[in-house]
Formats: sequence, C-alpha cells, structure tokens
Amino acid sequence: MSTHPYRILLFYKFVALEDSETLTAEHLQYCKDLGVKGRILISPEGINGTLSGTWEQTEQYMNDLRADARFADVVFKIDESEGHAFKKIFVRHKQELVTFRLEQDVDPNVTTGKHLSPKEFYEQLQQEDVIVIDGRNDYEYDIGHFRGAIRPGVESSREFPEWIRENLSQYKDKKILTYCTGGVRCEKLSGFLMNEGFNDVAQLDGGIVTYSKDPEVQGRLFDGKCYVFDERISVKINHTDEDVVVGKCFHCEDTTDHYVNCPVCNLQHIVCDSCEDEHEHYCSDACREQALVG
Ligand SMILES: [Zn+2]
Ligand SMILES: [Zn+2]
Repeated sequence: MSTHPYRILLFYKFVALEDSETLTAEHLQYCKDLGVKGRILISPEGINGTLSGTWEQTEQYMNDLRADARFADVVFKIDESEGHAFKKIFVRHKQELVTFRLEQDVDPNVTTGKHLSPKEFYEQLQQEDVIVIDGRNDYEYDIGHFRGAIRPGVESSREFPEWIRENLSQYKDKKILTYCTGGVRCEKLSGFLMNEGFNDVAQLDGGIVTYSKDPEVQGRLFDGKCYVFDERISVKINHTDEDVVVGKCFHCEDTTDHYVNCPVCNLQHIVCDSCEDEHEHYCSDACREQALVG
C-alpha cells in the first residue's frame, strides 16, 4: 500500500463499440455510484479517460473495466495523490476519441506508427536527422517538451491535419518521432502521418507520463513540466539533474512554469511569483478593471 490515500488514473483503448451511446449513460451512472471523479470520453472507436478516487475506488474501477472483454488489456497509468484531482465526474459521448475530422478516418488498430518503449524513444531522440513532433497543443508545449521537438502550431487536435500539410510535408522521407501526454493522441496522429505519405513514423508508447516513470530514462531529455488536464495543471517529468524550467511569464518573460486562468476572460497564461503578487491572476489591466466594475 502507498502513503497517499488517492490515485489518478489515465487510460485509453481503441476498440469498436457498437453500443457506445448506451455505454456512456451506463458508465456515468456507474462512476457516480462508485464515487470517482474525472473526465471520460466514449465513442464508437473506444474509450479515453482520466479520473481520481481513493485507492479502493480506483482499484475497483480498474478491475471492473478490465472485466469487460473489450477493455481486458487496457493499460492504466497511475499517479498517487493527496486527494481528488477533479471536482466532478463527466462521462461524455463523442464521435471521435481524438477529434481530427478527417475525410479518410484513421483506425489506429489498422494504421498507426511503431510503438517505442521509453528507452527506445530516448535512444532514437538522440539520432541525427530525426524529426520530433509534439502531438499536443501549443500551450502544453510551452511549459515543457522533449528537447529539439517542433512546437505544434495548434490549439486543438482538429487543427493538426491542416498544420501538418502546410508545415511538415518536406519531412516525408525523414524518421519521425511523435509523443503526447499518455499516448492516445499519437495513436491517431502517427496513423494520419502514415496515410499522408510519411515513410518512417514511430510514437512514444504510453506517452510522456510513462516515459517519466521509466526507471532507466527517468524523464531524461524532457525539458520543463508536462501539462495535465486536471487540478494539478502540470507534473514533473525529468527526475534527473538535467531538469529545467522552460515556460515564460506572460507579463515579464521571466522563466517560470506556473499556469493560471484569468478570472475575467479565462485566458490561461503563465505567471511568475512576483507578477502573481502584482497582477494576481488577471491577464491585463482591462480584465482587472472589468472585475472591479462587474
Ligand atoms: Zn513575471
Ligand atoms: Zn483576462
């Protein structure tokens, strides 16, 4: 047993679900009854989720999900925690697990990049002439990414196909490595790249969070923190003495990696300690004034 009373799970599984809408409704009720909190997406192409709960609740959740033959081999990434990492439970039905809206959809069970273990990924990162694509959004890249990775010019996954066609076509004969937080986005992104004619595409199996836990690589060559979609906002990845901070304060450009949301316009921005004292979480004077007036 652990010293922390709660755990945070991250998981996905691409598998055809004919009853995905019914399953969504049933799964929401199940999660409410169990008492876990988080965000789970269910679609005709599978399940993708992150949730928090006590040790017992998360143990029960993993056992119950694996008891369904369709999810028997789902891989859970597990973090320990002092409490819940979410305020509520959402179980939503979506058409795609990763929204690309392609004319020719990608089924990762048919077409996806080669899966690399953390150690393989670490070794290939250091090869010459490798193109490393961050499969996340620009604001995730900004507080942490693999050294040398290309900053994705996208604010959401659905912008990826166009961005890749416009910016990366010259790399079709290069070795391509992709990575994302837990692996789900790369399953589709790497498959899309292959369909676009990229010849040599590989993805980091289990994503950055798995890479961070690998006893041998220990997150090496990941600079900064990993953005996560829960109340922690970011987590430490590089457990070696090479850990650095790469984010820049929105106000003064000092190096820091603390994200906050503007309480008025909701702009998520990075702020350093001294600017947080001065500006609190407001992104601008205009938003501060509006808060006073409103
Ligand atoms: Zn600052
Ligand atoms: Zn604002």
